[in-house]
Amino acid sequence: MAEVLVLPDVSVRSEVTFPMVSIIVNMARRPRIALPTAEVSSRMRNVATSGTVPELRVRRIVRSLGVRYTSRTDELPGRPDLFLPRHRIAVFVHGCFWHGCRRCFVPPKRNRAWWRDKIACTQRRDRRKSHQLRQLGISTITLWEHDDVERIRRRLVSKLRRS
Ligand SMILES: [Zn+2]
Repeated sequence: MAEVLVLPDVSVRSEVTFPMVSIIVNMARRPRIALPTAEVSSRMRNVATSGTVPELRVRRIVRSLGVRYTSRTDELPGRPDLFLPRHRIAVFVHGCFWHGCRRCFVPPKRNRAWWRDKIACTQRRDRRKSHQLRQLGISTITLWEHDDVERIRRRLVSKLRRS
């Protein structure tokens, strides 16, 4: 995800040992770049470190159902997280924050309007990509970061039955 830039705390003292960190810190010190608030930074850090965990969970469940999948989906619109070739199903595993989950999304306190716009834009893109996939004869299923194993399994099974 291109938006995920984890800015270290400015108090990081590893400029000599880690040149990359030093570059990022220097960029952050440039006055024109707005530093994310602590709230946003911690969210970004969360996404950066655990972003693939929900995806791994979904993969495990798909495997347990005995369904073949690929995660190489660069050629497909919206680059789904998984593609089930035999069933022509694209699986998206959405992060609750970045995709504006109805249940979990709370906009950061700072720049609230900007965040709402950004998330709305992501949601429009998500809808557009689903539409493009449907035109290719591929149906989609969107799972959420907050979904538990049981729910994911149930939704996948019902999707597979209908495909
Ligand atoms: Zn959620």
